[in-house]
Amino acid sequence: MSNVPEIFGSMVFSEAVMQARLPHATYKEVVQAIRQGKRLTPEIATVVATAMKNWAVEKGATHFTHWFQPMTGVTAEKHDAFVHPTGDGRAIMEFSGKELIQGEPDASSFPSGGLRATFEARGYTAWDPTSYAFVKDGVLYIPTAFVSYTGEALDKKTPLLRSMQALNKQAMRILRLFGDTQTQAVRATAGAEQEYFLVDKSVYDKRKDLIYTGRTLFGARPPKGQEMEDHYFGAIKPRVAAFMKELNDELWKLGVVAKTEHNEVAPAQHELAPLFSTVNIAADHNQLTMELMKTVAKRHGMECLLHEKPFAGVNGSGKHNNWSISTDTGENLLEPGDTPAENAQFLLFLCAVLKAVNEYQDLLRISVASAGNDHRLGANEAPPAIMSVYVGDELEGVLKAIMSGEKFAGGGKELFKVGVSVLPRFSKDATDRNRTSSFAFTGNKFEFRSPGSSQSISEANIVLNTAVAEELRRFADRLEAADDFDADLHDLIEQTVKENIRIVFNGDGYDESWVEEAKRRGLLNLRTTPEALPHYLAEKNIQLFEGNKVFTETEMRARYEIMQENYAKTIRIEAMTTSDMVRKDILPAVSAYGGMLAKTLAAKKMVEGVDSSYEQSALKRLCELTAMTSKAADALDEYIMQSASITGCEDLSCFCRDKIFATMSELRIYVDEMETITSAKYWPYPTYGEMLFSVR
Ligand code: ADP
Ligand code: MG
Repeated sequence: MSNVPEIFGSMVFSEAVMQARLPHATYKEVVQAIRQGKRLTPEIATVVATAMKNWAVEKGATHFTHWFQPMTGVTAEKHDAFVHPTGDGRAIMEFSGKELIQGEPDASSFPSGGLRATFEARGYTAWDPTSYAFVKDGVLYIPTAFVSYTGEALDKKTPLLRSMQALNKQAMRILRLFGDTQTQAVRATAGAEQEYFLVDKSVYDKRKDLIYTGRTLFGARPPKGQEMEDHYFGAIKPRVAAFMKELNDELWKLGVVAKTEHNEVAPAQHELAPLFSTVNIAADHNQLTMELMKTVAKRHGMECLLHEKPFAGVNGSGKHNNWSISTDTGENLLEPGDTPAENAQFLLFLCAVLKAVNEYQDLLRISVASAGNDHRLGANEAPPAIMSVYVGDELEGVLKAIMSGEKFAGGGKELFKVGVSVLPRFSKDATDRNRTSSFAFTGNKFEFRSPGSSQSISEANIVLNTAVAEELRRFADRLEAADDFDADLHDLIEQTVKENIRIVFNGDGYDESWVEEAKRRGLLNLRTTPEALPHYLAEKNIQLFEGNKVFTETEMRARYEIMQENYAKTIRIEAMTTSDMVRKDILPAVSAYGGMLAKTLAAKKMVEGVDSSYEQSALKRLCELTAMTSKAADALDEYIMQSASITGCEDLSCFCRDKIFATMSELRIYVDEMETITSAKYWPYPTYGEMLFSVR
């Protein structure tokens, strides 16, 4: 058994460690800076740096790194030793305040969407003191933001921190309007439930597609898939349990509160949920979680697959982003209160979220758009690409009452009046039954179910924070100018519910009829990444991000290019892997098996009265399929070639989807059929059954 209290946070330079190791005055300043997002003076930074270094060295660190999150979506690090030569042939361990606060990793090969070419080649990392430093594998990790010389964001953290500031500013205005004088800061919180697959290393190593693309590009359905649903919440196998135990220990050491874990619906699929925290920390922790899942799995002879759709025909993996807003005193602003006044405040925040999701459906969809996630959102899997909000029956009743002016419980003669009527408590159990909604209210938080398992949660939270900040800003502008606050508040809520009710949907999001219904309501259904991305640069979206100081238009254009590029690159890598597997392994294997069949057939034909119909029909079908496969592979190679000369990013991503991806899909049909006919001895890859049931 692990001694949880002892190991938890043991590798983190936490507030408690700072309190114990820093002079009291310095500690106070650092805590102030963390709480209020202020800068530290160079003098203070020097004191902190020395204490941090001494602590890290005791934990076995010899190096430090500015840990950042470039636009690739993974994390980046470059290690520097603490070592400083003393000039007499010896060396000491040193770490300056300057080294703590700012780094210059060069790192010029990360995507910048042209930002660094236009401005200045250098990129800087800047310490984010709100996310604690930690020691991992002998290295002191300092969480940082990555910006260009002129201050443009080159990463996913900078805009996330900016969006938190925007939300804080506008939410504080609202709280003051409701007479709250206590709260000093409002922060967004997130808890990211992470789904993943585990496969044995021996099968993984034999699949080029898993190695190069993270998903299987081929594979016929296994005799048994997820149809029995016997894996979901089933007993955890000893090998997986050992992995989970070690993963928990590693995460706990780094202060990540890994809380629940269980088997998911698909065979070999699992989930880990942490306790929620402030969003920038939740984003850092989710990156650490994904990284450690991969390294710990390897130690157990397994590979962890984080791709959104590693296997066709069984459920894909998502990452539910649970999101709420809370005060620095710990009050959850999406929790309905006990008094009518508290309820009115709750309703206003709820309205801000409904309006934000309705008006910025496109941005939310884009925040989760990737080639991998298209297999979930665009296909017949939960949740759909349509953004809608599930609120549960009780809350929907309240919204209807607000619109009609009638009391929500049972009609009656009493009128519903915001700020006067008391709302029911929305129990989690009553509201959390709908698992098909993209955005579900679950009692005191929203669960955004669309993010893909491999994605950074930063993108989704940047959009959520900023869009809600924008709605709160408009509300505050209006309410601050109100003569009669209560009356104006009532009107504002009523108007907002009426104008945004189309986004509320409590039904089955899988159902085909919802697609029709959503269309009637005028909701967007952006099935694929190339379809979704162009909405990013809509005027209203530029205004949103510029107005809330989250992105400049230049930054947005850069990001847009990177998103488009990422899509095209992913599809092209998949296509080249497809072509390689087909030509080097699959066609030769099937051809060899066909040759064997042909020989047997010829031999059997020599014997009178022998039935050779099996060899005859199998060979015939295999020959047809190999011919079609070979032809499609030629077409695929031709498209890959053509794509190299397409210049516009929109044209390229559409070409990748319509020509390259479509041809890959066609190829897959032929190959999967050949797999079902070819002898297992000849088939060059582990089958779906072997992969999905490889960890026993
Ligand atoms: P379920 O498993 O039914 O989806 P849980 O209650 O287990 O729901 O919560 C799922 C996730 O939501 C957890 O990561 C949890 O920490 C997170 N969560 C709970 N409350 C909040 C909140 N106020 N803000 C953000 N995330 C939250
Ligand atoms: Mg969930």
